[in-house]
Order: sequence, then structure tokens, then C-alpha cells
Amino acid sequence: MPYRGVVLDVDGTVVRGDEPIPGAAEGLDRLADAGLDRLFVSNNPTKRPPAYAERLRRAGFDAHPSEIVTAGTITASYLAERHADDTLFVVGEPSLVEQLTDVGLTVATEGTDADTVVVSIDRSFDYDRLCAALRACADDDVTIVGTDPDMVIPAAEGNVPGSGAIINAVSGVVGRDPDVVLGKPSKPARRVVDERLGLPASDCLVVGDRLDTDIALGERAGMTTVLVKTGVTDDRDLARSEVTPDHVVDSLADIGAVL
Ligand SMILES: [Mg+2]
Repeated sequence: MPYRGVVLDVDGTVVRGDEPIPGAAEGLDRLADAGLDRLFVSNNPTKRPPAYAERLRRAGFDAHPSEIVTAGTITASYLAERHADDTLFVVGEPSLVEQLTDVGLTVATEGTDADTVVVSIDRSFDYDRLCAALRACADDDVTIVGTDPDMVIPAAEGNVPGSGAIINAVSGVVGRDPDVVLGKPSKPARRVVDERLGLPASDCLVVGDRLDTDIALGERAGMTTVLVKTGVTDDRDLARSEVTPDHVVDSLADIGAVL
């Protein structure tokens, strides 16, 4: 089957921290040689596409910011479209707040007047922040938006907690689930992918290391899915999962077998 486009995950698929994953360069060359249009889609909500391109460059990969979509960009455009007039309270990193204010959204420092509470990875998250989030969400009319569901992220030192962990902490104390969790595999993320690649789903591959985000996105979109075993998923996870990739490869180096 001649594929025309590929959605590539970044962390655990192409890089781990700032280091390239062995075989990733080979795989990217192979995809380029096969003429596939590519889009890097990351559930990292903290970095803008230019910062992501720079991170990829440090790892030895050339990528243009226009080839990159992150949970931050998806969250900013979703909120600008649906909650433009809301006052936001953000449990997240300063770089996420900047991405939201950049598109004209209003972010309050206190949560008491918030219409929408945005919850995301926050490496300085603590008890006081959890108290503030609980107060901000006290009214049931307050919308809770998660940036992405990633429970852990593959970092240089091993896996570390991601947005999913903070979202669970907040929704646990508030006593209700978020109204929406963006990033892969959400519908808003699939829409962005669709708009940016502009190709029929059946002509596209999704390559990633996570079953519940990368592979689930591809499965729901109707794309051919490829799991790489260079990230967070091991054989045990795969055996237990209800999400089944079409192909499983050791690393991106083996993408030729799928093409
Ligand atoms: Mg990944």
C-alpha cells in the first residue's frame, strides 16, 4: 500500500530527552525517501513548535516548526475557539500560560473567578496548587480541560509523571472527570492532524510508542498504526491492551517493513 502521509510521535519514538533514539534517523530518512508528508504530533503541552523544532535539531533532526503540532497548540486553539471569553485558571507550567495568553485568552492568577480550569503537567505542582484547583472547580459550572492524557513521559532519566497524573490528582479531589482531555487521541487533535496533512486517513500511517494516545488516535481516525518499542510500551502492556496496533516494530529503523 503506497502511503502518502505519516503522523510521528516525538518522545519515545524519535527522541528520549535530548538524545536521538537509535534507528530514528534511519527511519525518518526511509519515510522521506518514500515521499511521505510528515507531521510530528506531540502531547507535550509545554513547548511551542519552534522550541520543539530546536529540540529535534539538538538531537540531530531537521524539522521545520510547520511540521510540528503539540498539545499546547491544540489546547490554545481549542480554547480560543470555544472559550474565548472565559477567565481561565491554569494548573500548568508558565510556558503553557504564555501559549494561551499569546492567542488572546485571559488567565487569572487566582482561581476563584474562573469559568474554565486548564490542567496540565506542572513540575512545581504542590499541595497549595491542588487546594487552589479544588477551590477553582468548586462550582459545577466550571469547565475542566486537560491538555493531554499522558500519565508518564519518557525522559532521559526514565519515565516521569505527565499531565495525566496531575489531571487525576485534580479530578480526584474535585470529584468529577475533566469535561475534555485534549492532545492525542482526542477529536480536536484528530481534526488538527486532518487539516494539517490534508490527506485521506486510509493513506496515512501513525507511528508512536503509546497505545492509549498514538495508536488510539490512528485507530479512531482510520489510519494504519505502527507501535515502536523504543518508548513506554513493553510486551506486557501490549498483551493487556484493548488497543491493537496494525504493526509492531522494534524501532523506527524498521519502518521499511511497513512501507
Ligand atoms: Mg511518545
